[in-house]
Amino acid sequence: MNSETLSKKPTNFIRNTINEDLSSGKHESVITRFPPEPNGYLHIGHAKSICLNFGTAKDYDGWCNLRFDDTNPAKEDIEYVESIKKDVSWLGFEWHDKVKYSSDYFEKFYQYATELVSKGLAYVCFLSADEAKKYRGTLTETGENSPYRDTPIEENLALFTKMKEGGFKEGECVLRGKIDMSSSFMCMRDPIFYRIRFDRHHQTANKWCIYPMYDFAHCLGDAIEGVTHSLCTLEFQDNRRPYDWILENLDEFNKPDRPHQYEFSRLNLEYTVMSKRKLQKLVENKLVSGWNDPRMPTLSGMRRRGYTSASIRDFARRIGISKVDSITDVGILEASIRDDLNVIAPRTMAVINPIKLVIENYSKSELETLQAPIHPQNEEMGKRNIFFGRDLYIDKEDFLEKSPNNKYKRLALDKEVRLRNAYVIKANHVEYNENGDISTVYCTYDPETLGKNPSNGRKVKGVIHFVEASKSIKAEFRIYDRLFLNPNPGGLDDPTSAINPESIIIRKGFVEPEMLNAKPEIAYQFEREGYFCRDNQSDDLVFNKTVGLRDTWSQ
Ligand code: ATP
Ligand code: MG
Repeated sequence: MNSETLSKKPTNFIRNTINEDLSSGKHESVITRFPPEPNGYLHIGHAKSICLNFGTAKDYDGWCNLRFDDTNPAKEDIEYVESIKKDVSWLGFEWHDKVKYSSDYFEKFYQYATELVSKGLAYVCFLSADEAKKYRGTLTETGENSPYRDTPIEENLALFTKMKEGGFKEGECVLRGKIDMSSSFMCMRDPIFYRIRFDRHHQTANKWCIYPMYDFAHCLGDAIEGVTHSLCTLEFQDNRRPYDWILENLDEFNKPDRPHQYEFSRLNLEYTVMSKRKLQKLVENKLVSGWNDPRMPTLSGMRRRGYTSASIRDFARRIGISKVDSITDVGILEASIRDDLNVIAPRTMAVINPIKLVIENYSKSELETLQAPIHPQNEEMGKRNIFFGRDLYIDKEDFLEKSPNNKYKRLALDKEVRLRNAYVIKANHVEYNENGDISTVYCTYDPETLGKNPSNGRKVKGVIHFVEASKSIKAEFRIYDRLFLNPNPGGLDDPTSAINPESIIIRKGFVEPEMLNAKPEIAYQFEREGYFCRDNQSDDLVFNKTVGLRDTWSQ
């Protein structure tokens, strides 16, 4: 890669390290991995990690592996494996070779563990969980050696074999690294490498009853795959010690080009929670309709809501990579999607809170086809047909009987506005229903004003949208707001107490007839209303609001 292409890429401390490693000859290429645990759906935080891992490898002409960190059979499920693969592809990234699983390496992991046991660096420990906790000490007190720490090597080898063969019960013993019970890093105080579990595993079925812990499996998975830069979030900072210790104590990996771990700050986003455990709670307690509820920060929820993968990649670029913990303004995410959809979304008109409008001087038998641009700033997108007739719908919000002041630009009695893409109309009188609400607004239109200003110097400032009644199609609109009222719900004891009761509002209205063909996940701009896309879970015509036209929150 020449210096020009390098300089166009983002800079961050990880790329600086990579540049040094390549120029010093420590590594010849860049190999990264994205290691999700298949215990939930991916969220926008994972997207940050995906963009970093896949994006960095790609920029350096290297590659990124997708490796499922599947060492905890009790919590994992093939449903999650499939959704994660789908989400990574949707985000626009390709993993190298075939999908990998930590469980692909269980046999090798076992051999490496045996090597450590035979070097006197790991032992089988029979302390109960409670006892082990006491021996571990605290942040202010050093730990104490387990009484099983000095079991002779031969005996440990036999015990570890017996563990693997199912000779002990769950919880009866574990394999621990013999590191340092007085280390200031708790994870170096003889960490557990293997534990016994008789659960069926989604990849290896009942082949194994011992399962490696994260600290043991992660560094080895990286090393086996030749990963050069293992990028993870800051909460794993301390785990870098066992990571290094394990690799340095195995003959095969104790060399300068072994993988190294680098930590960056995780994404926290305002008004939502970002841990799979907390998201799972929302699903289980039916506070949302599922992992793919459009209010969820999951990639499946965001896709259903109309977020594009380009906007999420753009968001990842905007927030960048650092080591500083912060909560990201959700306005940045919304700006990313708004900027993308402003350019690509076809325009159409939808009336979300309909009220009937009758053009009294328009013939009952006539129906006109007018043309409107699909995108006013992009003629190449072409034109669409819209309809105009005597009976129309406009939005309730666009009409008041009495204009409140002369800044009011919408329709009122004796006032003129332009119907978007059509004529200038004037409201004359209204009809009420039995509840005393306005049911119909009666107007006249000026046939000379199609695409032209009205004559006699009349200035018409307001433009409102409409649909023609006989041609329009009934549709449901789901209008979303922040899922939580608190900007940092993850910081509350019970985030569910801060759920926004108005995070979804359902409205029934009308859309232009061509919206019958709208495809799910493709956003449209409903002129003056916002960006919407057809719901991918409903057979009926249901539209999810992706985002409004302007940022109304920061005002
Ligand atoms: P969660 O806390 O949501 O359960 P996790 O870290 O347990 O997340 P994993 O499936 O283990 O989820 O994560 C896969 C990768 O994604 C890890 O490398 C992890 O560091 C990264 N990741 C997870 N959450 C975030 C986040 N909010 N921001 C950035 N990266 C994240
Ligand atoms: Mg995890």
